[in-house]
Amino acid sequence: MFNKILIANRGEIACRVAATCKRLGITSVAVYSDADANAKHVAACDEAVHIGGSTAAESYLRVERIIEAAIATGAQAVHPGYGFLSENEDFAQACEKAGIAFIGPPVEAIAAMGSKAAAKALMHSAAVPLVPGYHGDDQNADLLHRQADEIGYPVLLKASAGGGGKGMRVVTRTEEFAAALASCKREAASSFGNDRVLIEKYLTRPRHVEVQVFADKHGGAVYLFDRDCSVQRRHQKVLEEAPAPGLQPHVRRAMGEAAVAAARAVNYEGAGTVEFIMTEGGEFYFMEMNTRLQVEHPVTEMVTGLDLVEWQLRVAAGEPLPLAQDQLKIEGHAIEARIYAEHPARGFLPSTGTLKHLRMPAGVEFTIGTGGDRAPVRIDSGVREGDTITPFYDPMIAKLIVRGASREEALKRMSQALRGCEVVGPHTNVEFLQRIVASVPFSTGDLDTGLIERHHDALFAPVKKPFAEALALACGALMTREGGVAHGASPWDALSHWRLNGGYTQTLNWRDVEKESAFTAVFSRDGDAQTLTHDGKTEPFKWWCGAGEHEYGATIGDAHVTGRVFIDGDTFYVFCRGEALAFEWQNLLAHAADSEHGEGRLTAPMPGKVIAVLVEQGAVVEKGQPLIVMEAMKMEHTIGAPAAGKVAEVLYGVGDQVADGAQLLVLDVE
Ligand code: ADP
Repeated sequence: MFNKILIANRGEIACRVAATCKRLGITSVAVYSDADANAKHVAACDEAVHIGGSTAAESYLRVERIIEAAIATGAQAVHPGYGFLSENEDFAQACEKAGIAFIGPPVEAIAAMGSKAAAKALMHSAAVPLVPGYHGDDQNADLLHRQADEIGYPVLLKASAGGGGKGMRVVTRTEEFAAALASCKREAASSFGNDRVLIEKYLTRPRHVEVQVFADKHGGAVYLFDRDCSVQRRHQKVLEEAPAPGLQPHVRRAMGEAAVAAARAVNYEGAGTVEFIMTEGGEFYFMEMNTRLQVEHPVTEMVTGLDLVEWQLRVAAGEPLPLAQDQLKIEGHAIEARIYAEHPARGFLPSTGTLKHLRMPAGVEFTIGTGGDRAPVRIDSGVREGDTITPFYDPMIAKLIVRGASREEALKRMSQALRGCEVVGPHTNVEFLQRIVASVPFSTGDLDTGLIERHHDALFAPVKKPFAEALALACGALMTREGGVAHGASPWDALSHWRLNGGYTQTLNWRDVEKESAFTAVFSRDGDAQTLTHDGKTEPFKWWCGAGEHEYGATIGDAHVTGRVFIDGDTFYVFCRGEALAFEWQNLLAHAADSEHGEGRLTAPMPGKVIAVLVEQGAVVEKGQPLIVMEAMKMEHTIGAPAAGKVAEVLYGVGDQVADGAQLLVLDVE
């Protein structure tokens, strides 16, 4: 076994690998970029080496620099995590050349699976079932178009070198093909440096079921069962679970065996995932093999009781697989939710910013216990309160993983755990995750990759939140702050301009941040009796400071509530009854008329780079017409005209870097 390894990654996966190293007494070396100088993964490792600037290209993708760091620190092996260089054959080769073990499969296996097109050809010869489609070398646009016509619409265009749901386009009609191909190729070239595409029949209502495989250097190969990752947005996984619900034992075995056959066909070593797409009828087809550890590996760890990173290290060090197929079993059910900094209601656009307040439910970090002592809630996170989600890397905040004896129990635990997540700073998908978990299709296991889209309206419908209770807590927190009181004392004693005796009233002006609506609450006190009036209703009101930081309690009318109020300037973030609400105190001095958002303004929804300007000054455009294409976090975002009009001015050109909220172009609305 190794004594020292370098982790060529960042964020939660670097922390995850470091946790196993610590448990096994292996010294870990972190690498970091400028933006990550104070990152959690640096603190999680025993040593750290600075490798360059903030963009991935200047740091985590620099093969030579990382090899240098490994040599300089005397690391015997490199763990690539996922993403970045994890499936890069040049990197694996460079490790080999430098005499450093690459904790992953042999170079040839990465190469064989690196191209989705070549992998499909190989799998075809290994008799692994494939989705009908075209994966040939000839990339002539007309030929591709004819192939798509022949396969029959809808078809799915995929970047052959793609991953992470990027570089895919569904084409529903032949008229849309040319534009979709151009856009797919552009994204493929910029994200993967290779614009080759393949075409597949687009299956309706499929499930994404994948199999975890492991192989050693001695010919041993096993499958560690399946995961269902059907709940996706933009073809990216949101919720994952193990085992895949409702799989018949013979299907489970057949898929496991097909996955092992796929691994054997490329002389695989280490951890790999064979992804299948499954029809409603239970037929499954090979999609691709990911030659690395997956983001969602913890659900497999939760149900098998195994530490997959430990297995990876042992296999890379030349040891045989720790267990044989008949020694592996599934115990219970596990679900993982990916908590992202993003705006679900704005098409899941990534959100950035400082994590001003971050509280995760009671759980254990990176627990990879064995047997019965597995923790029911596990949290894998690469950030801490005070850290910033930057536009440079993946905006994932944490993975929340729960385990239960049954799927039902795991579901309950997940709901409860999500209620305990509090994030102030970037927008998050926590509320959205809560709704999916509670939705009928998810809770009944009626899974398919279109679940989010099909139930869009229900998942995004406004929910009734505990408004009065949250308001009571916010008012309590505000009065505590304005009164400058110590814990437990009455703020009124400290307020010189408010009378202590007799009755008085105080009007508090608030804005509901989510609804963007203003309202007032009137606080009245007459002797000991206190009331709060809002929405024309006057109710008895009391509040008190809780024992912990940010904790408050209140009664309003008949309701009793406790929760946490995190105050940022004049914005009060209230977390109570499993919901998050935010109120902005309209400190009258700071009143601002917000008349800036005229229809003609077109602003960047996030920081990024302009990659295409589709209109010129003077152009007459229709409502919805694409105007500018931006790239951010390796994804394309098209900015369309909010209304018909004439382009008065184009403010940025191709290649320009733009800040969040920057005006991109001026439109004279008709
Ligand atoms: P990536 O490597 O980017 O993750 P995959 O090939 O694994 O891409 O596909 C990602 C997701 O896209 C799948 O989980 C599935 O939801 C959807 N998908 C892929 N191929 C098809 C297909 N032929 N028909 C319908 N959906 C598909």
